[in-house]
Amino acid sequence: MRLKIVQAGEPVLRERAKPLSKAEIASRNIQQLIEWMRETMHDAPGVGLAAPQIGLGLQLAVIEDKAEYQRDIRPEVLKERGRKPVAFHAIINPEITLDDSGQVSFFEGCLSLAGFTAVVPRAPKVTVRCLDHKGEPREIRAAGWYGRILQHEIDHLHGTLYIDRMKSRSFMPLENHNRFWKEKPLHSFE
Ligand code: ZN
Repeated sequence: MRLKIVQAGEPVLRERAKPLSKAEIASRNIQQLIEWMRETMHDAPGVGLAAPQIGLGLQLAVIEDKAEYQRDIRPEVLKERGRKPVAFHAIINPEITLDDSGQVSFFEGCLSLAGFTAVVPRAPKVTVRCLDHKGEPREIRAAGWYGRILQHEIDHLHGTLYIDRMKSRSFMPLENHNRFWKEKPLHSFE
């Protein structure tokens, strides 16, 4: 089932999401929700979707960066972003630790700010401790684009959007990004 993705301005996007118990994770409702979030993310399409984006204040997000999404991106660009395919998985009640060795900046988008993009500085590497879809503890170490996706999705669970972290002069419709800024250096936004 395709769920409605809420847009910036919906209060749920600014609230701190509620953790899930192991019993809740195992419940039919949450298992069904994970499947619907997967379908909604694919349909969008997007590489991540957090529960607040479908109107639910729960500490749950799904992530998948399919090889087919990367097919039309030049290899140099994929390499620069550290972007590789990531298999589908859910993260629940995540705690994130950022690598503090500087930041990397790239244009980033969000399904709850549909049609817009901006340059967002992010930590180059992260460690995430969370539960998976079965309620089992997981530790994820990620760099590059996957690390960026994790930071973006976990921000959603704390009521934070990329516009809180972006270089504000870089905020623009995707149309203008594609027209003027695609693959251009980002120093003009400093
Ligand atoms: Zn988002």
